[in-house]
Amino acid sequence: MSSTYLAFAIPFFIILMLAEYYVAKKRKLNAFNLHNSIANVSIGIAERLTDILVSGSFYFLYDYLQHRFGIFHIKAGVVIWILLLLLTDLIWYWYHRLAHEVNLFWVVHVVHHQSEEFNYTVSARITVLQALVRTGFWCILPIIGFPASMITVMLLIHGLYPFFVHTRVVGKLGILEKFMVTPSHHRVHHACNEHYLDKNYGDVFIIWDKLFGTFAEEDEEPVYGLTKQLRTYSFLWQHFHFLIELFITVKAQSSLKNKFKVIFGSPNLIDPKARDKAERIFSVKQTKVKLHEGLNSYVIWQIVLLMICVSGFIFFETHLSNAFKLLFTTFTILSLINCGAIMEQKKWVFNVEFLRLLTIISIVWPYCAGIPLSTFAIAISLLLLVLFYRTVQSRYLAVVYADDQNSKAVL
Ligand SMILES: [Zn+2]
Ligand SMILES: [Zn+2]
Repeated sequence: MSSTYLAFAIPFFIILMLAEYYVAKKRKLNAFNLHNSIANVSIGIAERLTDILVSGSFYFLYDYLQHRFGIFHIKAGVVIWILLLLLTDLIWYWYHRLAHEVNLFWVVHVVHHQSEEFNYTVSARITVLQALVRTGFWCILPIIGFPASMITVMLLIHGLYPFFVHTRVVGKLGILEKFMVTPSHHRVHHACNEHYLDKNYGDVFIIWDKLFGTFAEEDEEPVYGLTKQLRTYSFLWQHFHFLIELFITVKAQSSLKNKFKVIFGSPNLIDPKARDKAERIFSVKQTKVKLHEGLNSYVIWQIVLLMICVSGFIFFETHLSNAFKLLFTTFTILSLINCGAIMEQKKWVFNVEFLRLLTIISIVWPYCAGIPLSTFAIAISLLLLVLFYRTVQSRYLAVVYADDQNSKAVL
């Protein structure tokens, strides 16, 4: 049920993102970078899709925990709802704080902090792995005794609020600054200025930060992103670079005790040279490049169509077969990798296009069964494509990278 609401929420959020873009442009606020925003939205699309596939099981987990281990037998009421909101927010505070202070959790939360711009699209930078880690923390609620039905409604409301605090176009909000998490507070959280680091972890209420000594006022212009920025918009690299850095650092430790110390210690324990080593191993050495208009449009249209398709997928999710869900998810993830690879001007992008074509064929094939000669036509086209793979590849790359001077350097 909640997923159907989210299908309606997506267009609403897109309208707000466009409105924010318009206001920022009017105020000459440099809050948007096209490729940065595409990278943000790409991560959000993948999360929405994968989350739909796993989040249904969360309800059963909460329900099982409440019935098996619930300490109290809690029934819904006004005071209980308020209590649940406060408790959810308190658990979030500690989940979020530990996500910054423990490498094992920072592995999944780092993705939310890579953006060097700050706007509504940054709120989409959540991964399904982060949702899984967070669920571990939410399990406290059913163990206390809150029913699964209350928890899922609360998590939906609690999960929507952060969208509104990822913006630069809203200034300070008077009395609300005292107890609510506002855009100003969250700008501080996303900044890498020295005295803003590890501050303002709250989600809805800022009271926890004030209580536990992690509050900072926005008193200078924030600089957004990681203390050591990523040099790439690669979809895969953004998801896994820190995991590789952690692995490199852990591997270099001589004793088991030190290995555990790094895994459960803070990001300060990561070898400062681990990023460079990881980039060398995976040949991630390019800087962000400018693309010509046509290529930008190609990427933008892919993202727009994916957002429409994913909204439809969420809306009709319960009517879809598992095979369709799997193929659609594969197609979407390949498309997101494709967009990241185009923004990086990777030559292997053509191979991803080819795999995407195969997944499209797999999706439409069953529907072509009744059309005469359709299977034959698809098979012949595929055979021709395989036979002339090299020629088609060079044509594709010539069209895609035609006017770009930088492309030759990074292909
Ligand atoms: Zn954070
Ligand atoms: Zn955020």
